[in-house]
Amino acid sequence: MVKQNLEDIRRRIISACDRAGRSPEEITLLAVAKGRLLEEIKEVINLGISDIGENRLQEALLKCEGLRMRGGGGRTRWHMIGHLQTNKVKLAVRIFDLIQSVDSPRLGQAVSKEALKINKQQDILLEIKTSPEESKFGLKLEDAPAVFQEISRLPNLKIKGLMTIAPFAENPETSRPYFRMLRELSEKIDWRPETGGRRPILSMGMSNDFEVAIEEGSTMVRLGRAIFSRQ
Ligand SMILES: *Cc1c(COP(=O)(O)O)cnc(C)c1O
Repeated sequence: MVKQNLEDIRRRIISACDRAGRSPEEITLLAVAKGRLLEEIKEVINLGISDIGENRLQEALLKCEGLRMRGGGGRTRWHMIGHLQTNKVKLAVRIFDLIQSVDSPRLGQAVSKEALKINKQQDILLEIKTSPEESKFGLKLEDAPAVFQEISRLPNLKIKGLMTIAPFAENPETSRPYFRMLRELSEKIDWRPETGGRRPILSMGMSNDFEVAIEEGSTMVRLGRAIFSRQ
């Protein structure tokens, strides 16, 4: 089932890229592992997925240690996509390759401090609240440029791009304006010092709306149900 789902998703990513005149190589497919079993995670890794997203620290810890104990997951990159509390940052910096949910200067400072302690260069994304009514977390659009400046000055941390969660809707077109807002924000930022001239990551699009997200410039789609559920 997962194998078929992945084949179907990859086909849909290619079609969306065709429509948008983009290359499928620009898109990273992140498997969202919340609530899934270790066996399911191993299966997607064996099917070529190299990026795994988790919402909860404790779950991520169990899974990446579980995989390592079985000698697997060596090349897997772990992404924190859920809300991160400042008092959990120490552990998060030890586990995650990319923390996608940094949404305040205070959290940025905490990440920088812990990364400095273990001499790690921590990659992060800024989480942006593109729809004020819907999501609890994320930076306001209008605050984002100033917070970007502030966080980018911190040591041992690089802002690799932006992340947003569009409000859930049956009709994927509903998400389009939020994705567009994120892309437009990214175009206002000078990324060179952070990404070394590479294009920033735009982490947007979930099972219900990833094709629209790709049409609007997403470089990373975060899929849970589309990968793991019976369709
Ligand atoms: C759960 C979750 C996803 C995946 O959602 P699906 O609808 O299952 O694809 C993506 N991003 C975040 C932040 C999530 O919490």
